[in-house]
Amino acid sequence: MNHVAEGLRRLSELAQNRPSREQGTSSVVSLQDKSKCAECGDTGWVAVLDDGATMPISSVSPGEVFSARECICSEKRRALRVLRSSRITEEFQRLGFRNFSIAGRPQAVRIAYEVAKEYNDKFAELVDDRCNSIALLGRPGCGKTHLLMAVCNNLMRKGIEVLYFPWVEGMNELRDDMDDLERRVGVLRKVEVLYIDDLFKGRKEPTPFALEQLFGIINYRYLNHKPILVSSEKTVDQLCEIDEGVGSRIYEMARNYTVLMSLTPEEKASGMQLNYRLR
Ligand SMILES: [Zn+2]
Repeated sequence: MNHVAEGLRRLSELAQNRPSREQGTSSVVSLQDKSKCAECGDTGWVAVLDDGATMPISSVSPGEVFSARECICSEKRRALRVLRSSRITEEFQRLGFRNFSIAGRPQAVRIAYEVAKEYNDKFAELVDDRCNSIALLGRPGCGKTHLLMAVCNNLMRKGIEVLYFPWVEGMNELRDDMDDLERRVGVLRKVEVLYIDDLFKGRKEPTPFALEQLFGIINYRYLNHKPILVSSEKTVDQLCEIDEGVGSRIYEMARNYTVLMSLTPEEKASGMQLNYRLR
């Protein structure tokens, strides 16, 4: 059997097996499209017969000759797949620029909003550049996660792959399944966009294991010009103190889009709070 025929046979199997394969893979219930695509039976590929008729590949009679083309539903399916594999929860999928409030907030919060928005709008132009990443730094609760989630959600809508990696939980998961470590780290290195949330969170120093994995991921992405989105309570200097290699690469990658969110002396004197949740 040649490669094409083999590929088509597997697609056809995929079409038949699909219901069981798709169960329980996602918490994104409201966005799941349960209706099957009539054109392709949700394989993403359509069989075109000699007379021009089209049908799902699984419906072609055995032995019948056909060519295959990508179904128009593929783009939608890709966006949905991107969403499912991102590990972004349904709650976070609601976070956008429109529902981020800047009225009456400190200057740093408004600047972070502008910077994140600009990064989002220019993403297609800057994605291959040396400086193609963004870092929002500062106290918890000032809106870093909301803004970076808004970026993620917009990118995913365009079909761009995003992976959400909350620092503490993500590192624990890596450590707890050493058998699968290589594969998981490979995904973190290669995914189109990686969002590391709350980098170096916690009072304790990161473990040598965590630092080693992180450096491998950041360095790969640095060398291959793959964007990262970073939120952290640490400043750039503090990131560098914890790990010079990691900190300096993040600095270089996110130089044009780094915001340290803190209050101006006037805001501090007026009793303004950076933390939205405390207001
Ligand atoms: Zn289709």
